[in-house]
Amino acid sequence: ANATAQPTRQDPVSYLKRYYGYDRFRPMQEAVIQSITSGRDTVVLMPTGGGKSVCFQVPALMMPGLCVVVSPLIALMKDQVEALHLNGIAAAYINSSQGAKEWREVEANCRQGKIKLLYVSPEKLLSDSFYTFLNSLQLSMFAIDEAHCISSWGHDFRPEYTQLNQLRRWFPQVPIIALTATADRLTRLDIAQRLDMHDPAVFIDSFNRTNLSLQVLPGNNRIGQIVKLLQQKPDTSGIIYCLSRKSCETLAAKLMEKGFSAAFYHAGMDSSERGRIQEAFLRDDVRIMCATIAFGMGIDKSNVRWVMHYNMPKNIEGYYQEIGRAGRDGLPSQTVLFYSFADVATYTQMLTENKPANLDLQLAKLERMKQYAEANTCRRQILLSYFSEELPEPCGNCDVCRNPRVTFDATVLAQKALSAIIRLDGRVPMNTLIDVLRGSRSATVLSNGYDKIKTYGAGADLRFEDWRSYLHQLINIGVIEVAYENHYALRPGILAKDILHNGKTISLVRPDDAPKPVVAEKAP
Ligand code: ADP
Ligand code: ZN
Repeated sequence: ANATAQPTRQDPVSYLKRYYGYDRFRPMQEAVIQSITSGRDTVVLMPTGGGKSVCFQVPALMMPGLCVVVSPLIALMKDQVEALHLNGIAAAYINSSQGAKEWREVEANCRQGKIKLLYVSPEKLLSDSFYTFLNSLQLSMFAIDEAHCISSWGHDFRPEYTQLNQLRRWFPQVPIIALTATADRLTRLDIAQRLDMHDPAVFIDSFNRTNLSLQVLPGNNRIGQIVKLLQQKPDTSGIIYCLSRKSCETLAAKLMEKGFSAAFYHAGMDSSERGRIQEAFLRDDVRIMCATIAFGMGIDKSNVRWVMHYNMPKNIEGYYQEIGRAGRDGLPSQTVLFYSFADVATYTQMLTENKPANLDLQLAKLERMKQYAEANTCRRQILLSYFSEELPEPCGNCDVCRNPRVTFDATVLAQKALSAIIRLDGRVPMNTLIDVLRGSRSATVLSNGYDKIKTYGAGADLRFEDWRSYLHQLINIGVIEVAYENHYALRPGILAKDILHNGKTISLVRPDDAPKPVVAEKAP
């Protein structure tokens, strides 16, 4: 798209200094700003704390006209706008809680060019009256925050976001910038397509947050383990994520009983109470926040030293986002996930009962999360490969790296699997692949002629279950990839070429050595 608005001549850094007090951009921010101010559609993937806000707020200040910011977090709009006001930036928001008078005031300010950034929910944005209003203004750009919500491949799909493709039809000349901290490969492609972007510039910041240590502990006697961990880090701030509101409350009470400075936070509390608790945490008056995932969105606290998960998250996107709230100041910070198979069972049951439209996808994402928790290889490599990023060496800062499992050279095994995957054109899911490798005479194999391919039966010496374990490990380290969009078929991953052609070797753990998940007690 071509921008009708040309950026002003002033240097972007002068805006950064004046409004945010920072001396220089982070490397990617500069490139993003260059892209959007030149009128190009832009997609930005940056981990939480990476500095996405500056990416659209500085251009909004530089360019003539109004920047419309779409955000699903209605509850946070007020905070976001107030934070901008504190920096001296003219911003406003519109949501359903406002009266007609307030709205007229915002409208008038926009018309007079007094507002640079207007925050709005997708529902409001797409209403007819709002279109008429916007059409009478000069617009600099649309900024779509939490852009993964537009994709049904994402973990937080919001149907109201899908209508945003209207923007391109209504305002073909206005560039769009989409920002998210959490999108796997498929979700990224989907974001650009659904917004009808033309030749977008895509910026992907590294997801590697090296200052976060990664650890998975068995989910038994969780409170005892938590107390021990907390005693090792007195006077530090952290978050313990729990699945249910009830467990947040009980856990906070138990920790207070033991003399810790703890509180709880969840969506069942009224907003003034939530605001009070959040404020206390920001000011370090409360150190330990026992919270549901409702806590943390949009909260900018740099000295969160640790994040624990009392329950396993439903998917890696959510997990990554939540642990990302630790160590935003770059200092070493600890993350601990308590894993019990009971959580997997609970989610599976919830999902199969609720039958969401994308049930299979959600189950597959849950499975990946479970594999992460059960992994025997570097956990950071697993996380990064999930976001299609390669970490060539194990990280040295996760529990597996610190306490390595006994491994064997599985290069030939990986080559067999890859060669079969390639001969099957990356079309078959795991069970079929194993059947082919083991030389099974199943109906699927025979009716498709899979028994004719060269690697048929090349892995007959291994049990079905062993192959499952090895394939999961190969997926986790990026040798094989799961094509969600293609019935979960397996295809070569980012490391495949090196293993097949460049002499790269690979080690795996024997299934019998893999630690077993613990079936744990119920909520506290
Ligand atoms: P995100 O939205 O990606 O989670 P934010 O936009 O909230 O991240 O930025 C995270 C923190 O980094 C904020 O405290 C912000 O003020 C700070 N920050 C952003 N850009 C810079 C910069 N160029 N230099 C220093 N700090 C920055
Ligand atoms: Zn590691």
